[in-house]
Amino acid sequence: MTARTIWIDGELVGWDEATVHVTSFGLHYGIGFFEGIRCHSTPDGPAIFRLTDHLRRLQRSAAVYGFDLPRPVEEMAHACKLVVSANGLTDCYLRPLVFLGDGANPFTARLRTVVIATANGPLTGPPKQDGVRARISSFQRMSPNSIPSAAKATGQYLNSFLAQTEALSCGYDEAIMLNDSGRVADGWAHNVFIVAGGALVTSPVGAGGLPGITRDSIMTLAAEAGVAVRVQDLVRSDLYLADECFLTGTSAGVVPVTSVDGRGIGAEKPGPLTVSLNDRLTEITHGIVDAYPQWREYVG
Ligand code: PMP
Repeated sequence: MTARTIWIDGELVGWDEATVHVTSFGLHYGIGFFEGIRCHSTPDGPAIFRLTDHLRRLQRSAAVYGFDLPRPVEEMAHACKLVVSANGLTDCYLRPLVFLGDGANPFTARLRTVVIATANGPLTGPPKQDGVRARISSFQRMSPNSIPSAAKATGQYLNSFLAQTEALSCGYDEAIMLNDSGRVADGWAHNVFIVAGGALVTSPVGAGGLPGITRDSIMTLAAEAGVAVRVQDLVRSDLYLADECFLTGTSAGVVPVTSVDGRGIGAEKPGPLTVSLNDRLTEITHGIVDAYPQWREYVG
C-alpha cells in the first residue's frame, strides 16, 4: 500500500499537495526537528512502537533550540495514528517533522508540522541482519558545544551524511563516529553497542550520541535477561577486541557488526546476545508476547 495523504499543520492533504515554499528557513538553514518511528502489524492491529516516547524526544529536540512544539504531543500522536489508518498502512515508517517555515526572518518565522507515513522509510536498503562491515569515520562527531547531539535536528545530519557517504565510497556499509576526544560517539544513524566479558556496553550519550529509543529498549531487555549493562566510554580498540558489536536504530533495528576497519569482530557473524536481543525486541514490537504493553500504542 502506498501512502496517498500527509498530515500538515493539522489537516490531511493529498500527497502532491503537501508542498512548502522554497523560501522556508528550514530548507536554507537546516532548522528543524524530526523523528523516525515504526509501526508494526500485531495480532491486535497496527501498533506504533513507543510513539509517545518518540514524540517527547521531538519536544526535547525543539526545546534544545529554544522552541515549543507548535502542536501538543497528544495532537501529534493522533496525527501519527491518523496517517497510518487513513492510508490503510500496517507495517510502516512514520516521519514527524517540525521545521521553520517562511517569513520575514528566521527569528520570527513560524514552525510548520508534518507527519508522513511511508511503507519503508528513507534509509531502508537490503536487510542487514547477516551483519555489516563498519568503518571508523575520518569525520568527527559534532561536539556538544557546537551542535548538541541530544537533539534530533535536521541540520545535524550534515555530519552524519559526511561520515556515511565516506564509508560507502570506501566500500564499507556503516560509519561509526568518534568524538573530539577519540571516544566512540555514535553511528551516523545508530547507537553503538559491544559485548565484552559477557556484559553489554554502550557509550554515554554525553560522548555525542543521540539518546536512542531502540538503545533504551535494548538496555532494558538485556537487564531483564540478567545481562550486566554498562554505560562507559569506548575507544576504537574496544570495538576491535569486542566479542560482539551491533548498532541500533528505528530504521534498521538491531544490526550486527561483523568487522570494524577490516578487523573481524568475534566469530565474524551475528553474535548470540545480538541475535537473542533482536529476537526479543521483535516479538515485543510485533505483539507476539504480552510483555511491555506500554511500548505498543495501537492505531486502533
Ligand atoms: N543515533 C543517530 C545519529 C540517529 O540518527 C538515530 C536514529 N534516530 C539513532 C542514533 C537511533 O535512535 P532510535 O533508536 O531512537 O531510532
